[in-house]
Amino acid sequence: MLMSSILRRDTFEMRNRMQCGQCGNEQFTKAGRDRQARQLYRCRACGRRLTARSASAFRGYRFPDEIVALAVRWYLRFRLSYADLVELLAERGVHVDPSTIFDWVQHFTPLYQDAARLQRRRRPASLLPLAGRAGPRPRRPCCPAQGGRAAGALGTQRLV
Ligand SMILES: [Zn+2]
Repeated sequence: MLMSSILRRDTFEMRNRMQCGQCGNEQFTKAGRDRQARQLYRCRACGRRLTARSASAFRGYRFPDEIVALAVRWYLRFRLSYADLVELLAERGVHVDPSTIFDWVQHFTPLYQDAARLQRRRRPASLLPLAGRAGPRPRRPCCPAQGGRAAGALGTQRLV
C-alpha cells in the first residue's frame, strides 16, 4: 500500500473521530488551511472552524503532539528528572524549559492514567495467582467440609 493512501486513510479516520468542541457534532467539511498549512475543517452543525488538533488533548500546546507525548512517557516510564528530559530533548534538537515539561506532566498524567485504566481487563480465573506465584496467598481450607484437614490433625491451625 502506498504511503500517500495510508496517510489519506489516517486523515479520513482522524476526521471521522473528531468531535466539535462547541456542539459535539462529528460531521465536518474541509475548509482550507491555517497559517501553519494545517488542514482546517468546518463543523456542519455550527460552522465552527477547527483543525484535527482542536479536538485533541494537545490543543493549545506549541510543541508537536509527538514531542509532548514522548516527554511525558519518558518521565512516567523511566522516572527521569525534568533536567534529564531537557537534555534528552536538546540532543534531538528540541529546546524546552523544564517548567514546560512540568506543565505537560501535570496535564497529561491523569489522561494517561484514564487511558490505561480503560485498557485493563479482568484476568480469567485460570491466570489468577496461585501458591508459590507472585500475589496474595489463597486462603487454605480450614475444615474437612472445605477440603482441609480437621483442626485436631493440624495442631496449630485455628478454627474461626
Ligand atoms: Zn459544531
